[in-house]
Amino acid sequence: MAHHGPHVLDVLDSAAVPGQKHVNHFNRKNGELFAEDVSLAQLATAVGTPTYVYSQATITRHFHAVDQALAGVPHTICYAVKACSNLAVLSLLGRLGSGFDIVSLGELRRVQAAGGDATKAVFSGVGKRDDEIAAALAAGVHCLNVESAGELARIERVARNLGVRAPISLRVNPDVDPKTHKYIATGLRESKFGIAMPDARALYFQAAASDHMRVVGVDCHIGSQILEVAPFAEAIAKVLELVADLRTDGISLEHIDVGGGLGIPYDDEKPASPELWGQTVKSLVAGTGLHVIVEPGRVIVGNAGLLLTRVIGKKQHDDKEFVIVDAAMNDLIRPALYDAYHAIEPVATHANRPLRTVDVVGPVCESGDFLAVDRPLPEVQEDELLGVFGAGAYGMAMASNYNSRPRPAEVLVSGAQWAVVRPRETLEALWQGEVIADLGD
Ligand SMILES: *Cc1c(COP(=O)(O)O)cnc(C)c1O
Repeated sequence: MAHHGPHVLDVLDSAAVPGQKHVNHFNRKNGELFAEDVSLAQLATAVGTPTYVYSQATITRHFHAVDQALAGVPHTICYAVKACSNLAVLSLLGRLGSGFDIVSLGELRRVQAAGGDATKAVFSGVGKRDDEIAAALAAGVHCLNVESAGELARIERVARNLGVRAPISLRVNPDVDPKTHKYIATGLRESKFGIAMPDARALYFQAAASDHMRVVGVDCHIGSQILEVAPFAEAIAKVLELVADLRTDGISLEHIDVGGGLGIPYDDEKPASPELWGQTVKSLVAGTGLHVIVEPGRVIVGNAGLLLTRVIGKKQHDDKEFVIVDAAMNDLIRPALYDAYHAIEPVATHANRPLRTVDVVGPVCESGDFLAVDRPLPEVQEDELLGVFGAGAYGMAMASNYNSRPRPAEVLVSGAQWAVVRPRETLEALWQGEVIADLGD
């Protein structure tokens, strides 16, 4: 347990329970890295690499942390499916009582395939098609989070054609700066997301007057990997002003959805704890009588996942040293896309190895194909295993087949037990469905 830095602490260990002993679910035993009670070295032998490994105990604990943080107000956790959408993860969360935040028909079908409760799903996303809206209404989702005037009209038309009343919530854009990477800031006026505050009231009137819509709530989601509570507080306060105005207008809402976005420690960040975030939400919403919906993704699964990879070789250029591994940007795109930091450690014991400053790179033909740049890493050997931490959210979910690389296997661990919850993609699967069309020469 002695040979790891703060990055292997999952989110709750950062601040939520001061003074309480850290409980990590990616631990070292005699120097060797385990996922719960499963040896990652043995797992790699059985399943191969690269492989995503998820800890059931960690997911469970994070879910309960968010749940407890909101204790005292009626609330529903709608896990953001896009963070990690494996059926085993969705099923686990469903069994824990979670609802779901979905952004596509594919995600709705995943929730249903996992046995999740579609009536506890909220449908977000800036461009819903007619067929997606119809399917969501047929599935009885809790509500559609509406992103624009055009979408409101589209939903009304689809609901009218089906002869139903669509439950709607307007996603408003509170224009606050979440102080995060620009690709994951979504609550600024210039972003494509949400309805501008000044336009929301008129749209609520329109929705309330329709025979084919039912106004149920309001929502906002200002971004991701947010480390402080201030942006959340600012956004919620603005949304509550709107709620009060609507009440004066005779439109009463049932719920406020404050979105997701709470950050986690990847490196030495000190994100607000779920507890503090929950207190902030509760203190603002208390007394409004509103049911609270939250849409956490990263905070639930981010530090519950590890990408297991093997060193293929090493390479030196002038003063640059590269460690080439069998996981690449197609498997984990966060470093390339967001300049994201993921802690990387050898799976084997490494206490007495010298540190080398290296780039950890994959085999893909792109200079953006790196998992770490200028990173001090214990000296590694060819064929040894490395663990890439914090890979549970936006890891496998964003994986692609670029360079015709089969996507990694996924494994769920619980105690000493483990199961492959998605086998490694086969080579044949890479071109499944493709056709060599004969259109003449
Ligand atoms: C991505 C997303 C979330 C989840 O964000 P996290 O940062 O993973 O908590 C929640 N709600 C909406 C609308 C999203 O797009």
